[in-house]
Amino acid sequence: MTFSRRDFVKTSVLGAVVAKVGAPAALAEVPAQDHNAETAAPKHPVIICAHVGYPYVEAAYAFLKGGGDTLDAAIRVVKGPEDDPNVDTVGLGGLPNEEGVVELDACCMHGPTRRAGSVGAVRNIKNVSMVAKAVFEHTGHVMLVGEGAERFAVAMGFPRENLLTDRSRKIWLLWKEFNSDRDWWGPGMADPHWLPPAPDAKPQAELWRDRIEQLRQRAADLGIEPDFQMAAVRRVLFPSTGTIHCSVLNEKGEMSGITTTSGLAFKLPGRCGDSPVIGAGCYTDQDVGSAGATGSGEENIKVAGAHSIVENMRHGMSPQEAGMDALKRIVRNYNSDMTKLHYMDMTYYILRKDGAYAGVCLWEGSSAGHPHRFVVHDGTLRYQVATPLLKGFSQEWPPIPTVPEELKKDSVYLK
Ligand code: ASP
Repeated sequence: MTFSRRDFVKTSVLGAVVAKVGAPAALAEVPAQDHNAETAAPKHPVIICAHVGYPYVEAAYAFLKGGGDTLDAAIRVVKGPEDDPNVDTVGLGGLPNEEGVVELDACCMHGPTRRAGSVGAVRNIKNVSMVAKAVFEHTGHVMLVGEGAERFAVAMGFPRENLLTDRSRKIWLLWKEFNSDRDWWGPGMADPHWLPPAPDAKPQAELWRDRIEQLRQRAADLGIEPDFQMAAVRRVLFPSTGTIHCSVLNEKGEMSGITTTSGLAFKLPGRCGDSPVIGAGCYTDQDVGSAGATGSGEENIKVAGAHSIVENMRHGMSPQEAGMDALKRIVRNYNSDMTKLHYMDMTYYILRKDGAYAGVCLWEGSSAGHPHRFVVHDGTLRYQVATPLLKGFSQEWPPIPTVPEELKKDSVYLK
């Protein structure tokens, strides 16, 4: 969109008037930003979200077609996984921080009313997506964190509950024991099964096989059921990522976006990633489009990913170009050092006001045959493979040298 000299004069004059008398009536003089002039109106509603949201998209789409609000539709997509104790990346059953406490993050933007709400590091409340909405509905603030956010949620009627499920607690204990070479966690030398540290002379791959077998045995000792033991080991070695972002567009061209997560598993207490940061984990501008992110939160905050993408679209880039540009900024932050970049990943979910959309990612996925996918519903519900900026696969941090085949085969998500 170009900004003509006439527009500039109008806005300048308006600025002077508002500064002097604060007269809202003068706002009628401001030229509206009309992107419909450049982009066609949407033909049908569109929902785009992270793959964890898939089971809930059909119902949210029907709600939208029935005239439901765009943010309420997005909440329908993310609330299901927040309520599900078997999804360990959001809400109830999310993997905890390093002290065994679940801390949740969420933010949302309501395009039609141009409002935003966010909560960070919230304990004991599972539906943080709805709490984020309550922040803008019931306060003059945008962001609440920690204990204050929890107390606000309780005041709003959200039930306090223990979010650490038995399963998540056992995975956390397993993680403590896995990292217990240099601390007092895990069975001590008095334990009949105690083994001395493996000799350094063994080849790395063999060391890892031994260590994984020890972990599986420990999972059994902790009472983790047999068909979940390797899955629990996997979560310790490759802490799961499954943040959900959802952007929604209705037939009227109204848009909203939301992102919810339990954040990085075993993070430091109080750590907030990108998900509750308006402009990083989620950004919606009713004039342009909506975008959100999952992946390495710290990297996304540094490029203000969602906001950068929406601004790129405002200046004429397609959704895919806009997302690729944000990914290139992450690459730039590491001077294209591929060794470092391999230890991070990022997926962006992008929806433009005319219904055009894209899913882009830094790497193809975590391993061959497991590409990054996202969910789209524009009349037909489906998965799509996200377009990677770089060829190849991301690696876990901290790095492990060899991934045994049985771990590669195991599904990332609970069955
Ligand atoms: N972006 C999230 C965070 O950094 C993690 C994720 O997407 O899985 O907290």
